[in-house]
Amino acid sequence: MVRSGSELHRTALEKLEKRGVSLGEIAELVYDLQKPYLNELTMDLCLENVQAVIRKREVQNAILTGIELDVLCEEGKLSSPLQEIIKEDEGLYGIDEILALSIVNVYGSIGFTNYGFLDKTKPKVIDRLDDHKNTDETHTFLDDIVGAIAAAAASRLAHDNPEISDVMK
Ligand code: MG
Repeated sequence: MVRSGSELHRTALEKLEKRGVSLGEIAELVYDLQKPYLNELTMDLCLENVQAVIRKREVQNAILTGIELDVLCEEGKLSSPLQEIIKEDEGLYGIDEILALSIVNVYGSIGFTNYGFLDKTKPKVIDRLDDHKNTDETHTFLDDIVGAIAAAAASRLAHDNPEISDVMK
């Protein structure tokens, strides 16, 4: 059975909220990324672009898959060695980043630079999610998903405003 787009969309939004991530926080990342290139940029416009990214089915699938693995790991339900690898957020695992790239891909290659930058600098909400190693929480996938949504939203903005994409090439 093929699930309806609206069901996937609603579930993806619910899961993000349940895991403590607001779309406003993701929009803030987009704002910080693009403000230097676009004077008239507003938080509303950033939020609009974040919402548009999450309307894509590929993005919903990545959100659901990544969060599911984080939650199963939190509950100790994965088998070894995956349970330990995801719990410890092992640097050499890399599948969390690969899953996130399926989101970044949606708006073409401009997103890769922004995703790499967010992954390296871990601003704001990404830092909060990344800081889970000594807690009961697991956000191994979610931190990358949030960065990827922000990067994809920034790319979408850039496509609508060619003067930004010139700067970002
Ligand atoms: Mg990660």
